[in-house]
Amino acid sequence: MRNDVSKEWWSEGVRFECQGSGQCCLSRGEYGFVFLTREDRKRMADHFQLGIREFTKTYCDKTKGYFHLKEEKGRDACVFLKGKKCGIYEARPTQCRTWPFWPEVMNSKTWNKEVKTFCPGVGKGKLHSAEEISKNLKMQKSSELALHRQRKP
Ligand code: SF4
Repeated sequence: MRNDVSKEWWSEGVRFECQGSGQCCLSRGEYGFVFLTREDRKRMADHFQLGIREFTKTYCDKTKGYFHLKEEKGRDACVFLKGKKCGIYEARPTQCRTWPFWPEVMNSKTWNKEVKTFCPGVGKGKLHSAEEISKNLKMQKSSELALHRQRKP
């Protein structure tokens, strides 16, 4: 990713504020898994005062070598979604913290065609500056790299 963000479509910032729809916590198949780095699992395990191994056994599944949160059977929702709220908000995974500023969706085509229609928080509330967006993109990118490094086939 370029360091100069002035040419990005989001260079003037983007309005986004979570509307509590819970949409991003519902699974859309493999695409919708909440993937977890070791750091994510450690943070969440600490939240429950569990060891990382115990947390992983209780709350995680593994697909193609990548750990991700389990889903509630029959509802295809994240195991921590309570009503429309996150039941582990303070300790939520990086993927949930950085939404919707993910490298794979921050191109104008995907943003306008998919993110805008899927997420009711887009265009509402707080204006996130280009610097903030850039920081989230970097955080998400390094989390994705860690996921690949930590993959256990
Ligand atoms: S951890 Fe929380 S924010 Fe992330 S998908 Fe689950 S319920 Fe939603």
